[in-house]
Amino acid sequence: MPREPQPGWSSERFSQGYVADYKPFVFVDGEGVRCSLYVSGCLFACEGCFNEATWSFRYGSAYTDELEDRILADLAHESVQGLSLLGGEPFLNTGVCLRLVRRVRERFGRSKDVWCWSGFTLEELRGGSQDKRDLLAGLDVLVDGRFEIARRDLTLPFRGSTNQRVLSVPASLAAGSAVPWSPARETRRSA
Ligand code: SF4
Repeated sequence: MPREPQPGWSSERFSQGYVADYKPFVFVDGEGVRCSLYVSGCLFACEGCFNEATWSFRYGSAYTDELEDRILADLAHESVQGLSLLGGEPFLNTGVCLRLVRRVRERFGRSKDVWCWSGFTLEELRGGSQDKRDLLAGLDVLVDGRFEIARRDLTLPFRGSTNQRVLSVPASLAAGSAVPWSPARETRRSA
């Protein structure tokens, strides 16, 4: 079983500001064409994790201003729908993810969407530290929860086990409870 999150699991304590990879113009990390940033470091230790190398907070290379500028330039392409944040654990790397999401919102407003995959659940993040709540508020879609190998289902879109959920963050925060993401809802919201 994955580890349960602990009160001391903070970005301030663990993040080294490292990223495992950056991939522009991908089709698999959410809806449409996306730019995907994979941050380094995760404490959940899910059995069967798709990328164990990223558990180390020192895996890969340091996040830089140059990389951030490149991501923003790539996002500006008309065909790109948005940014995807994956890990590792984005919410244990809020120093990286928050500054990037803030710049994306400054430059593109809501014309680009932001998806994020996290081992934390929506409820854990809503009750978490300010940086976690700030990053959550900057997202459009959260794929939440630990990967549970006993509940693995490779036919599920955007997630690996049946306990994980694909959630609309604005709708969930407005409702005060988890609201599933659906393409139709997002189209209505942005219309
Ligand atoms: S939360 Fe994600 S990155 Fe972390 S161990 Fe689990 S599957 Fe791997």
